[in-house]
This record gives sequence, C-alpha cells and structure tokens, in this order.
Amino acid sequence: MTKRTLDGFIPSDLLHDIARLNPNASLSFIATILETQKIAQAAASGRIPYRFAAGKAERQIYDAKNTTRLPGTRARFEGDKATGDKTTDNAYDYHGGMRDFLKQEFGWNSIDGNGMNLVGTVHYGRNYNNAFWNGSSMTYGDGDGVIFVTFVTANVVGHELAHGVTEHTSGLDYYGESGALNESFSDVMGACYEQWLNKETVDKAHWLIGKGIFGPTIKGVALRSMIAPGTAYNDPKLGKDPQPDHYSKLYRGSGDNGGVHINSGIPNKAFALFANAVGGHSWKEPAHIWWESNCGTNRVTGRASIADFARKTVENCNTMAPALVAKLKKAWDDVGIKV
Ligand SMILES: [Zn+2]
Repeated sequence: MTKRTLDGFIPSDLLHDIARLNPNASLSFIATILETQKIAQAAASGRIPYRFAAGKAERQIYDAKNTTRLPGTRARFEGDKATGDKTTDNAYDYHGGMRDFLKQEFGWNSIDGNGMNLVGTVHYGRNYNNAFWNGSSMTYGDGDGVIFVTFVTANVVGHELAHGVTEHTSGLDYYGESGALNESFSDVMGACYEQWLNKETVDKAHWLIGKGIFGPTIKGVALRSMIAPGTAYNDPKLGKDPQPDHYSKLYRGSGDNGGVHINSGIPNKAFALFANAVGGHSWKEPAHIWWESNCGTNRVTGRASIADFARKTVENCNTMAPALVAKLKKAWDDVGIKV
C-alpha cells in the first residue's frame, strides 16, 4: 500500500465512470486521469516537479495558460493588484481566505504550521477536469465546460489545502477508513471555511461539497452532501452519488483507495449532525473538536479507524466542551458508531 500524497478533488473512479458513460467526451476525461496519475506518481516518489521553501505564508498564483507546464507564468503574488482574470483573482482570494481562517480560528500558520507559501496554478491543461494538491502546491483545471465548469471555489480550495494540513499533522493514511477520515477532515474544513467566509450559521448552511463545479445541465447539486450523503447527484453522465450515510453500509471494496471518497460520508454526516445539534457557527466548538482530534496534541495517528476517531472526538469534547458530549455521542450513534 503506497501512501498517497496527492489528492485530486474529483475521485479517479468517478473520472473513469464519466469517460465510460460519455463516449464523445471520453478523451478529455482519459487525459485528466493520465495527467493526474503522472503527478500522483511524481509526488509519491518524491519527484514533485517543483518545491517551495517555507516562506511568510504568501500567496503565489501562477497561470499555466492551458499548458501542463508547472508552475506556469507568474500571475498574481502577495500584494499584487487584481489581474482582471476571474479565475486567478478568485484563487488569490480563496487561498488568502483559507490562510486567514486557519490562523484566526486555529492559530495555525499556513498549511504546514510554519508559514509555507500558498502556491497555486490556474488554467492547467486543456479541458483538465480536476484540482489537486501535490504536497507543495495546488493546481486547478478549467473543466470541460459541460460536466465541470470550474474548480476554483472556496470549498474546493479549503478541501484541498486541508489535505496539506493533515499531511503535516496526523498524517492519516490515504487508504480504507483512515483515508475516509482524511477525506472527511478536508470536507469538514472546506465546509466550515465556506460558512466562515459567508458568516453563515449552521441552520443556513447547505453542507454541500463541490457546489458550483458542475455545468448547468448536470442533475446534481454538488459532488457530495455532508448532511445527506448519497443524494448529491444522479445523472446519466455521472452515475449516482455512491456515499453511504451509516456505518452498516460501509463500502468494503478496493476501489477508490478502499473507499476514501465513499465512506467519508459517514464521518461527514456525524459532523454535520453534531454542528446542527450545537447550533450557531460550525467553525466554533464542532470544528475545534475535529481540529484537535486530527491536528492537536490529542490526535489520532496514521491508521485510525472511524471508531478511533469518534472516540478521540469524545475525549477532546470532554476536555474542551463537556456540555456538548451527549450531542456528540448522539451524532456518532446516528451514523452507526457507538462511543
Ligand atoms: Zn480530497
């Protein structure tokens, strides 16, 4: 089992399904799969195409101008004025927003806790249908314009940069249940970051991951739903959202790295239920308990199971917010995990 350091936002199993279901569009999806694999292998073997030293948590946004050369041409660095290219300027804003969210809410300095610069490349490739974190930087394709229309959203940026945080803290292994927890932590942070940006309370939140990435003809609201896993999309071009919402329906196959993007629905729902039961802002106690359990001094280790993580959250809740323990246990219980 190789430890993956790369995460495409769109799971490769879904890209394969789309290529199979859409013969006319299959070339661009096969190219996306091959390109993502190439970068995954380079990342796993330490041959990351470029690496940036720790810095002052400054933003460095590049433009690949529809080539696959990384990092591309300098587009907008920290302090530069807006470029007028919406994708570049959104990437600049969302990277900065996530940096500020981590700092203000968790006292965490950039992705690695040590002021690493926030490097991103936009307009990667032609019809490239993914966004990924390669261990040192972010890369965003533009999508094919039909199924996917963008990957530069607050939610996607938050999700992917949170993978970098996990890499530098618990290091949850990207396979099976620990991989599902790794995915789920990124969804939790992506959702909380978006709610924080919009100053939204939990009752107003949509709890969707990847809202806005699909084209208008796709029957789906997002890539995943944290509050109702398995209901995000159902379209002949994509198939159906495969996420279970209860541990009794755990996926046990070997696809998707042992179901990392599938079984993440279970801890995702536990978080959304807990945050809703607590009320107010998700990024307060609920996110802080999750953060402590993945990144703090009392955190899980690399091969943790979903039940291990649930126990850890209850331990931390006992210390951090004892009045909320009953609500937390109930949320886990509702997804089939007894603590
Ligand atoms: Zn991910």
